[in-house]
Amino acid sequence: MRICVFCGSSAGNQPEYLDAAKQLGTALAKAGIDLVYGGAQVGLMGAVADAAIAAGGNVIGVIPRHLVERELAHTGLTELHEVSSMHERKAMMADLSDGFIALPGGVGTFEELFEVWTWGQLGHHQKPCALFNVSGYYDKLIAFLDHATTEGFMKQPYRDMLLVDAELDSLLSKVKHYEAPKVAKWVESKSER
Ligand code: AMP
Repeated sequence: MRICVFCGSSAGNQPEYLDAAKQLGTALAKAGIDLVYGGAQVGLMGAVADAAIAAGGNVIGVIPRHLVERELAHTGLTELHEVSSMHERKAMMADLSDGFIALPGGVGTFEELFEVWTWGQLGHHQKPCALFNVSGYYDKLIAFLDHATTEGFMKQPYRDMLLVDAELDSLLSKVKHYEAPKVAKWVESKSER
C-alpha cells in the first residue's frame, strides 16, 4: 500500500507540526506503507520523508524539475521522479497512491488536497482523502467546509468524504476502513434540484 502525504514546504511555528510530520512518517514505515510525497528536503516535507526512511520505509518523491533546487530535492529516497510540471507531479502522486493525507501546510498543500478530494467527488477515484488536524490547525477550514454544506454548496456525503482527525492512530484507521460513496448518488442529487 502507498499513501501520499501533502504538507508544508515550511515547518510552521509550533514544534507540534514537525513532531506530527515525524510521527506520520514513522507510523507509515512501521505499518509497511510506502510514502509518496513531493520529493523535497524542506519543511514538513523533509521531516516526513526523513522519519519514514529512518524507520526503514520506502519513500517515493515526485518533484518538478524547476523545483529541484528551490525545494532541495531529497537525495536519500527510494525513488525520486523528476517531472516537467506541477500538473504532472500531482497526477503521478495520485496515480501511485492508494490514499492521501494532508498535514499542516500552506496554499500548495490546500491545492493538492482539494484537487484529489474533488476528483474523488467526481468518482475519478475511490481513494480516501484525510486531514491530519494537528493542534487544531485546520479547525477554521473545517468550520468553513461545514458552512459550505449548510449553505447548500456541498452535499453532506461529499463533505464526509474528507476524513478528519487530530489523533494519528485514529486517522490511519479511518483511512484504512474508508468506503467511497456511490457516484450515482451524486448524479441523482444533481437531478433532484
Ligand atoms: P506549501 O503548502 O505552500 O508549503 O506547498 C507544499 C507543496 O505544494 C510544495 O511542494 C509546493 O511546491 C507544492 N505546490 C505549491 N503550489 C502548488 C500547485 N499549484 N500545485 C501543486 N503543488 C503545488
